[in-house]
Amino acid sequence: MTFLVLLGAPGAGKGTQAPILAARLGLPHVATGDLFRAAVHEGSAVGLEARRYMERGQLVPDSITVKMLLDRLAQPDAALGAILDGFPRNLAQADILEGALADRSSRVNVALEIEVPEAELVRRLSGRWICKANGHVYNETSHPPRVPGRCDLDDSPLIQREDDRSETVAARLTAQLTALREVVGYYQERGLLRTIDGRRPVAEVTAALAAAALAAAADETGSSPRGAGN
Ligand code: AMP
Repeated sequence: MTFLVLLGAPGAGKGTQAPILAARLGLPHVATGDLFRAAVHEGSAVGLEARRYMERGQLVPDSITVKMLLDRLAQPDAALGAILDGFPRNLAQADILEGALADRSSRVNVALEIEVPEAELVRRLSGRWICKANGHVYNETSHPPRVPGRCDLDDSPLIQREDDRSETVAARLTAQLTALREVVGYYQERGLLRTIDGRRPVAEVTAALAAAALAAAADETGSSPRGAGN
């Protein structure tokens, strides 16, 4: 089983990298933000509750988030592992994940942190647009669409996520960077953290993430002591 945690601030590139990495490693991409957006779209009770926090750039309470994540990990496609994106977001969630995986005789194999300086994050986030139909991600400066306002892949209109509006970005970053640093420390203490420079081109970041993930999987098969290298 391979459980890989992808860490990074909002805008660090997790949403871009996670699906590519998932395809390359043959693992499902489990993003709590996507699960919440789907719940909001469906208008379910969880969605209605989560929406109140998401719109304000706040974390959804752990009680709701953890149940949703564990339900997702209980699906058959996650039996062999998953790439977790957006979870854990605080120490309580990290502890619960550790316990839940231990119950399955498993654990987090590696935590990959995509590191981007704060000023660059603000610039990226306030320029982010997604397509209405499928959530394909664009950025005004680093990845603009061919036709302004339309998705290259499905031609649907580009919209700004409620929580990417500039007034929400600052609140979102402050709340999440503090917790992120704690989670990074949590995995560092356990010898599981690998930090990747997220300012490089997308393909280079992907290559670095994949190399770190494969090295962790090799450690897991017992070819070298756990946590060796960095
Ligand atoms: P994301 O797409 O990961 O940026 O998540 C969008 C929003 O969903 C966040 O701003 C939070 O409101 C909520 N969310 C996603 N993951 C979590 C989590 N692990 N804990 C609490 N709230 C979360």
